Amino acid sequence: MKRYKIALIKGDGIGPEIIDEAVKVLDALASYSDFDFSYEELLMGGVAYDMTGDPLPQETISGSLKSDAVLFGAIGGQKWDNLPREKRPESGLLRFRKELGVYANLRPAVVYNELINASSLKPEIIKGVDIMVVRELIGGIYFGEPKGRTKDKGWNTMLYTRKEVERIAHQAFKIAQKRDKRVCSIDKANVLDVSQLWRDVVTEISSEYPDVELSHMYVDNAAMQLILNPRQFDVMLTGNIFGDILSDEASMLCGSIGLLPSASVGEKIGVYEPIHGSAPDIAGQGIANPIATIASASMMLRHSLGEEEAANIIDAAITRALSEGYRTQDLAQFDAKEVCSTSEMGSIIANYIKR
Ligand code: NAD
Repeated sequence: MKRYKIALIKGDGIGPEIIDEAVKVLDALASYSDFDFSYEELLMGGVAYDMTGDPLPQETISGSLKSDAVLFGAIGGQKWDNLPREKRPESGLLRFRKELGVYANLRPAVVYNELINASSLKPEIIKGVDIMVVRELIGGIYFGEPKGRTKDKGWNTMLYTRKEVERIAHQAFKIAQKRDKRVCSIDKANVLDVSQLWRDVVTEISSEYPDVELSHMYVDNAAMQLILNPRQFDVMLTGNIFGDILSDEASMLCGSIGLLPSASVGEKIGVYEPIHGSAPDIAGQGIANPIATIASASMMLRHSLGEEEAANIIDAAITRALSEGYRTQDLAQFDAKEVCSTSEMGSIIANYIKR
């Protein structure tokens, strides 16, 4: 029997509630599979700061590196917003990604037919949307030096090396090969030197993937096209800051933020987490949607553990729960037959897996 070691970082706010539901679903899967899971809980975020004085204790990094994958809830909250920058939960998260070398952030934006009315766009525009945003995560303007500020001036540096662009481009092309075989690379090459390098390197790498069609688009146009005709996209390849913005925009095509998973992968351990934050406004009420986290567990099976079939089983169980009309509070006004709590939704999905 294979045993996968999963590091669980529940974090703050709704983090613990949604991770518990993902674990419920993973355990349901393990109950009839030839593998199972062992879990190690690690601290990060505000809760880690409160207990240790550091939002990212060293044990969390070393424990994560010893695992097969990390399943992450969310961190942050008002309570910690006024701490010095390096003590804030969000700084811990950036440092964590860097330490684990997870340079590729994969964010699927898939519109569930059952929730077609939950989007703010017209059904005929979004029906069938299935986009994968591949965002570079540990380079670009969020990390480039020099950076700083004085009273009257602030500056950051958008910097990419050839190697950084090559490795994220390879990820995007490989993912496209398993999908509709189209990559649209997003940049601002009409203005930025760093984008000109980006475009040249992506074009060079594309010659290794002759079965994948490559196009380029300026980021401002991409922001428009996502609203105008989102079905035109298969894989969107972007740098860090452009991807941050465009992946949030793409996610909104799908309705609730509570539905969308993500994977951050690189050379070592993958980190799987919902795209939303710790939602302090609804924490502890049992109304958070756990689907984004359960779908993140599915991505973990697919991208880190090589358990594609098991991932498909989870995805099918999520779709079934939605098509049978089960909705958490965030989606209650969209064709709900029954509004359920966080833990009821987890149990419904887990039960569909067992059957
Ligand atoms: P948020 O994503 O936490 O919440 C935005 C809105 O969406 C809220 O109304 C919330 O109730 C709702 N929402 C989020 N997840 C939901 C779910 N699963 N089910 C139902 N509704 C859900 O963003 P925010 O309010 O801007 O940030 C709150 C805290 O989270 C901040 O401290 C922020 O820094 C942090 N944050 C953390 C991460 C992360 O851990 N990766 C990401 C984003 C924000």
